[in-house]
Amino acid sequence: MVQIVKTIQEVRETVKAWKRAGDQVALVPTMGFLHEGHQSLMNAAKAANARVVVSIFVNPMQFGPTEDLASYPRDLDKDQLLCQQSGVDLIFHPDADEMYSPDFCSFVDMTGLTEGLCGSSRPVHFRGVCTVVSKLFNIVQPDRAYFGQKDAQQLAVIRRMVRDLNIDVQVIGCPIIREQDGLAKSSRNSYLNREERQAALCLHAAIQSGQQLIQNGAKDCQKIITQMSALINQQPLAKIDYISIVDAETLIPVEQITRSVLCAMAVYIGKTRLIDNFIFEIPN
Ligand code: AMP
Repeated sequence: MVQIVKTIQEVRETVKAWKRAGDQVALVPTMGFLHEGHQSLMNAAKAANARVVVSIFVNPMQFGPTEDLASYPRDLDKDQLLCQQSGVDLIFHPDADEMYSPDFCSFVDMTGLTEGLCGSSRPVHFRGVCTVVSKLFNIVQPDRAYFGQKDAQQLAVIRRMVRDLNIDVQVIGCPIIREQDGLAKSSRNSYLNREERQAALCLHAAIQSGQQLIQNGAKDCQKIITQMSALINQQPLAKIDYISIVDAETLIPVEQITRSVLCAMAVYIGKTRLIDNFIFEIPN
């Protein structure tokens, strides 16, 4: 079974030995409770790299004070099995005090890209993400790192961080994996009861409607957002946090669709906050 290590030193020693042998190394950062979305990242990583490290760390720094840190789902045995199936070579599963000493005081903070979309309702989130991902990059020193398009803002933020700070890692984005009925796979889907699980389909319905409108030539973002919102507002258990159409790279809101855009949303289903998005590409 794939080995689980809890210390930074063990990861470093293992990766150093691989690199001495000439192996390329991939990192797949996760918070565990793994599903087929995570597995698609691991499979992509294994296909292009001799060695794959999966980190499983529910990073306290990226949760706000009223968020779900304490209740975040965990199942290390199942995670280990899924990693094994995908040919993962090592799981890094540190405790919080291995990552953060009591006097920890260094952060990676990004302006701009982190302020809109999820950043508006989760003001400390991306500082936590950037800090932990740069620590993981420094610990593992991977050649490539794999992230899901499911967290589109996170992917854009990580790409920018790597560019701005000259981090020597290739960031690979992977497509959103969905349930058969269209709901984007997420560890947080486990919070939904039966009624909420059904209600959660309104996110995908809105995504499909937005995609259809744009494909049919709609250009006015406000109109598109209004139609998508109307679909979600029909669902009594749903409450929109945001629906935005932004430039796919800068994440700045756009009014007219004249270039590639990211249409992203966060919607509460009951108490559970779900996110989804699509990219509409216009070739330059
Ligand atoms: P998480 O464990 O939620 O922090 O996610 C770890 C990585 O898996 C992130 O890069 C996510 O974007 C990615 N991921 C999560 N769900 C999906 C999905 N349904 N499809 C593709 N990637 C995903």
